[in-house]
This record gives sequence, C-alpha cells and structure tokens, in this order.
Amino acid sequence: MNFYRTADAEEKKIEAFVKFNLFHHEQTDKFKAQINKIDNLFYNQKQNCFYCPMGQKMTQIGTFTKKTDNQFQQTITKYQAQNCEGCPLRGACHKQAGNRIIEVNMNLRLHKQKIREKLNSEEGIKHRKQRPQDVEATFGQIKSNHNFKRLRLKGLVKVEIEVGLACLAHNIRKKAYKDVKNKENNPKSDRKPTKSSNNSTILKISKNYLEFFQKVA
Ligand code: SF4
Repeated sequence: MNFYRTADAEEKKIEAFVKFNLFHHEQTDKFKAQINKIDNLFYNQKQNCFYCPMGQKMTQIGTFTKKTDNQFQQTITKYQAQNCEGCPLRGACHKQAGNRIIEVNMNLRLHKQKIREKLNSEEGIKHRKQRPQDVEATFGQIKSNHNFKRLRLKGLVKVEIEVGLACLAHNIRKKAYKDVKNKENNPKSDRKPTKSSNNSTILKISKNYLEFFQKVA
C-alpha cells in the first residue's frame, strides 16, 4: 500500500518519506542473515541479474503479470540460478526441486530502494524522529482507543469527510479534557470566554471544516 502512496506522491511531485512495512525489520541482523530473502540478494542493474548467496548469477527467464486484491496490475520478473546441485547453502537458501527461481516485482523493488535511501538520509532520519511525536500518538488514540480502524465510506471526497470528522471529534475530546483539567487545577477561575478562547483550536478547526463542506457540497 505504501508503494502506491509513494508512486502517487512522486506523480504529484511531493517528496514523500513513507516507510514500507518491513523497513525496520530488514535492517536487523536477523533479517540480513536470512539468505532465502530476495531483498538480501545483490542486483546488478547493468546486466539485469541477481547474484545468489554463493555468488552465482541468476538470470532472467521470463515475466508475467498478475493483479493484486485491489486490482492493481503488477509485472513480475523471474530469475533463475545456474546450478544449485551440491550447494552447501541449499538447505537455508531454498526448497525448490531444481535451481532456485525468484519472482520479483522490479518496479516495487526500485521504489523500495528509493524510499530506503531517502529514509536513511539525514533529512529522512530527522523526519523519522519527528513523526512519532507528531502523529503516532494521535493515530493510536483514534484507531485503537476509539476503534476507528476501518473506513465506512468509499470515494475520495467521502473518505476525506469521514476522516475529517474523526479528527474533529478527536480535537473536541482533547479540548474538553483540557478544559476539565484547567478547571480542576484552578477551581476558582470560572472565567467567561475571552477573545483568545474564541480563537481556540476547536473553533478554528470547525470553521475550516465548514469551509471544506461548503466546497465539496
Ligand atoms: S542453493 Fe543455488 S541459489 Fe542458493 S546459494 Fe546455492 S547455488 Fe546459489
């Protein structure tokens, strides 16, 4: 899914720093030691071939297309090792009858490589450090604590509205909680709304949201 988002961002000329699902896992020693993983094989772009853990060339033997569950068409390329007979690594490398064959979505591989480089760059590391503080806690609240795990509507506009409402509800909850806390800490301060509280986050959000509804209505 992240791949589609990244490809989409690229099309729209947005610089995206989006992690794919195995990004952290593939950087562990445990993952790197698994020679059966295609992501651990070296690819030679000039010669369009992979090298297996024994250093043997794996050459292209064909391509085919398939559709994902979301009806997204993918082109898969097949590569095969030359001779696996008697190889001491065979048990850990593959369980196929003949010489090892791998099937690779080269487009996805290319995008993953680009993302990897971006996320490991100085700027990428900065974004990765900032992200948990910025959004993860909010996602956790909305998704786990308030059980908003699936969208109920379809279509971009409807989804924007649904997510917008969830965010609006989240902000109302935050504001209400903050007000209660303020009251507990200062029980005597029963102030009337001031000019600044009229400009509070919640009012700003509501105003923006109304404008959004007017635009899409
Ligand atoms: S089993 Fe085949 S593909 Fe795997 S390392 Fe040995 S020669 Fe290479």
